[in-house]
Order: sequence, then structure tokens, then C-alpha cells
Amino acid sequence: MEDSVQRKMEQFYEGTAGPPLRVLPIGGLGEIGMNCMLVGHYDRYILIDAGVMFPDYDELGVQKIIPDTTFIKKWSHKIEAVVITHGHEDHIGALPWVIPALDPHTPIYASSFTMELIKKRLKENGIFVPSRLKVFKIRRRFKAGPFEIEPLRVTHSIPDCCGLVLRCADGTILHTGDWKIDESPLDGKTFDRQFLEELSEEGVTLV
Ligand SMILES: [Zn+2]
Repeated sequence: MEDSVQRKMEQFYEGTAGPPLRVLPIGGLGEIGMNCMLVGHYDRYILIDAGVMFPDYDELGVQKIIPDTTFIKKWSHKIEAVVITHGHEDHIGALPWVIPALDPHTPIYASSFTMELIKKRLKENGIFVPSRLKVFKIRRRFKAGPFEIEPLRVTHSIPDCCGLVLRCADGTILHTGDWKIDESPLDGKTFDRQFLEELSEEGVTLV
């Protein structure tokens, strides 16, 4: 564990050296599941999603694989918020481990349906902290860490999924979350193509 922390620290920019926009996947890149990614402006970060991965059958006795919380703990002073895109297990399932690794007041943002799933999970694990849980609304901008965040409606295979537009002085990041374009979602909340079009005119630094 310590080795992987060391490696990440050595390979990564800190302070004002290097580019202003920073993306550091803790999990979920090149693998299915365990989505967990730090996105930052210099040294100020938000953590997007905190999921688990379910191992293959041959890994006997292992029930869940979670992101490297040692690293999250080491950088907890730089992580100013957690933002969750949707309620699938590979996006919220690691919260019971990630939350204790963060600073005790770090807020957790999610849309309302997703937040209900999160509350249930936190209660089951005895770490329900209502004051830290913040519900956001689609297309309603809010500040989290270094970014002004605007959630975007996307469709997927669970209700209330969103992508995130992250704006800061050095650019705009579009994080799509998990998505497919569903023309007739059960809840009637369709993929917001118009917003994407508007965003293309505004300009995006990184998708
Ligand atoms: Zn998903």
C-alpha cells in the first residue's frame, strides 16, 4: 500500500508547478468498477465518485475491492468535497471506507435519489452524518472546492444520473459520468443534449 502511495506522489504535480487542471484516477480507469477520481485546480481537489469493484470468482474470500484510501487520507487536506454522479455500487459503494479517510467536515454532494441510496448505505455502516450531505439539483450551479459545478442530466440504467460541468479560472471540464442516450427513460428525464450544445459554444478544456 505505502509503495503505491509513494509512486503516485512522485509522479504527480504538487503546488503551483505544472499545469493548473489535474486529474488523478484512484480507481476505475482501465478496469470495470471502483470509479473514484480526484479532479483539481492546482492543489485543491474534489473527489468524483467512490465505488467498489466486485472481484472475479477466482479471488476466493475477497468480497469487494475498494480504492486506495491510504492515498486519499494522505491528501485529505487537499480534498474539499466529494461529488457523486449516480447511485450504482461502483460509484457509491466505497463511501463507507472513503468517508473516514477524509477530513471530518468534507461535504458529500449528490442528486436526491442518489443521496437516498447514500444515506441508507451510511446508516448501515454507522457513519450517517446528515450535516455533510448536500443535495444538488440538475442545472443548478454550486461551489465545491475550487470549482463551480453545474450538474447535467444524462441517462443511464438507474434514475437520476448526472454528468458534471466543472468550471474554474483555468478552464472548464466536462465529466460525463456513466451514460447512454436513452430516448425514452422510465422517469421521463431525457438526456440534456441542448445543454451539451450550449456548452460546446462556451468551450470545454477537457472531457
Ligand atoms: Zn453506472
